[in-house]
Amino acid sequence: MKKERTEINELGEFGLIDLISKDIKLKHKNSVLGIGDDAAILDAGNEYLLISSDMLIENVHFDLTYFPLKHLGYKAVAVNISDICAMNGTANQITVNIGISNRFSVEAIQEIYNGIKEACEEYNIDLVGGDTCSSTSGLILSITAIGNCKKDNIVKRTGAKPNDIICVTGNLGAAFLGLKKLTIEKKLFLEDSNIKPELKDFQYAIQRQMTPKARIDIINKLNELKIVPTSMIDISDGLASELLHISKMSKVGINVFEDKIPIDKEIYNLAEKLNLNPLLAAFNGGEDYELLFTISQKDFEKVKDINEITYIGYVQDINKGNYLVTKAGESIEIEAQGWKHF
Ligand code: ADP
Ligand code: MG
Repeated sequence: MKKERTEINELGEFGLIDLISKDIKLKHKNSVLGIGDDAAILDAGNEYLLISSDMLIENVHFDLTYFPLKHLGYKAVAVNISDICAMNGTANQITVNIGISNRFSVEAIQEIYNGIKEACEEYNIDLVGGDTCSSTSGLILSITAIGNCKKDNIVKRTGAKPNDIICVTGNLGAAFLGLKKLTIEKKLFLEDSNIKPELKDFQYAIQRQMTPKARIDIINKLNELKIVPTSMIDISDGLASELLHISKMSKVGINVFEDKIPIDKEIYNLAEKLNLNPLLAAFNGGEDYELLFTISQKDFEKVKDINEITYIGYVQDINKGNYLVTKAGESIEIEAQGWKHF
């Protein structure tokens, strides 16, 4: 009899993670939260420990023809710190696993570590270990971040309640436009190596793609204001995908407004130049590493004048579904995105 074979893209990334996690029972009392959030939660007595891993793979997550090694090292750290922020925690340590081939010189590896160290300085992180392996399939960089959080302050993806306010930090879509511009310029260069890349207007977008910032500043600000969000997630895969995670995990519906989604003015202009829809860049682009969170209405007064925090909609009953209200007043259902990498 022929053995059954299921293709990975039949399940998608999230279906695959659901399958992996289905039969896993946590055995230890101090394993508070396992698979399914931005970081795992371990009970460390009077506080929680947080652990999160993220992997960057050459030609899947980055292309070394335009991605400087130092920036890559920086980004690999920042995206992990971002997951600790998404739990309302503080990252303190990282371990770094790196897969390399003899295509890379010692100097090249040092350059990656210069970026890693720069991020460790900026975010006050100790590099405490890792692993070094040879790789036959390009560069692999996998980082684990370890953080902590006061027990009362922990925020998961599961706590959003109907009538909560939905907020995002910073602005969205820029990292995707930066990536698009770089891939377009690479294509032009491969067709004609005399062509000089035209990146002048795209500095901000490219910087957002190459050196995303973990929003520690927002976590500190919320802490200062004594606001504990009811749910939170970082925006790695695009706003749509993260809204659906909050919806699924909190068992709630979502209603957000197109005209409230924060998109930088410059990004509108650049999107036009590239013939892209800026809303789609924000919704489906990803890699902005901003925070998406919900707060109860009583906390709204405290955040409404903070520049870097934008109210984009509200949480509703699960039966009402997940919708984006367009500028024209039309409600469009928010749908899951396919898996980009397969
Ligand atoms: P994020 O985008 O915040 O990094 P992911 O979507 O990568 O989160 O992961 C979601 C959850 O699934 C996390 O709890 C993560 O630890 C877990 N996870 C992802 N891949 C695996 C895996 N291969 N084995 C076990 N857990 C995994
Ligand atoms: Mg995350």
